[in-house]
Amino acid sequence: MKRSDHPRLNDSVIRTAALIGGTHGNERTGVTAIQRRLAGVAADAPGLPAPREAKSFRLDALFGNPRAIELNRRYVDFDLNRCFSSDGLADRDAPGYERQRAQVLNALLGPKGAADPAYQFTVDLHTTTANLGPTVIIREDEAMARIVAAAVQRDLPEVRIMSYLAEESDGGHDAPAGGGPGSANRPGDYPYVAEITPHGIEIEVGPVPQGVVRADVLGWTEAIINSIVATLDAWNHDEEIDVPDEITVYRYIGDSDFPRSRDGALAGMIHPERQDRDFEPLHPGDPLYLTFDGTVVPYDGPDGAVPVFVNEAAYYEKRAALTLAQAQHIATVLG
Ligand SMILES: [Zn+2]
Repeated sequence: MKRSDHPRLNDSVIRTAALIGGTHGNERTGVTAIQRRLAGVAADAPGLPAPREAKSFRLDALFGNPRAIELNRRYVDFDLNRCFSSDGLADRDAPGYERQRAQVLNALLGPKGAADPAYQFTVDLHTTTANLGPTVIIREDEAMARIVAAAVQRDLPEVRIMSYLAEESDGGHDAPAGGGPGSANRPGDYPYVAEITPHGIEIEVGPVPQGVVRADVLGWTEAIINSIVATLDAWNHDEEIDVPDEITVYRYIGDSDFPRSRDGALAGMIHPERQDRDFEPLHPGDPLYLTFDGTVVPYDGPDGAVPVFVNEAAYYEKRAALTLAQAQHIATVLG
């Protein structure tokens, strides 16, 4: 497919894109990827390709949360990647470092929802302590992200695509929650950094501990970035982009919390048979949690749902032991 054939985006050229690392200050892979770009590293290394330069658009590399990066913490006052709902951005005097940083990023890159924002595409870099493998995350109704994600998967077949969907829930048990992982938000108005611009994608690679850089995780992250840059160049040049008609996405359907005591304290952990088994389907009755007093808690959600972000360190405070997703086959080109 090529840009001029796209039913919605045939004249949507990317002029300026943002590559953001360190949105979470203790996710050092993204920080390092930005540092390598800013340093102009041009040499390939085994498993670590040189950063690919954009030919048809400006690609600005920047740090999402400089103060948290300095402190090597996820955030100072509030999770920056939950600050970009329209309501949150409307409160310009909201207290806290990240609320104010969100205003700065929104003014620089957007503003969100503008007809002619300063940047048209955002790539936001993340890592997880969970055994997720190389992953990209898209908003499912973002037509350009679908094509970019499909092209990444064509270049790097091990990459999985996760998605969130702006759809009203009918309240049924299997209905999409309309949210992303570890977040409660209004359907259609997501609080993520990549939502500032009309088009965007998150890269999420794991497992890697917080505060740690691993060459393999950095290599995956940069290979995905390079694939995205090449695809956006092909898109701008109206070249043929070879992608399949359908992609498989893992769509968020909700979070599952750890066992808790009556006062809310952590009372259990991921069952040992489930640890590190992200994307392996769950069936009712499967061992899911093990309480600290030795009781197995079985899974009782929808049959065939897959767990992602299993035992992600940053989600303990969000009361999510894991996020549930459902495999969906969707058209690559959103008509
Ligand atoms: Zn992150």
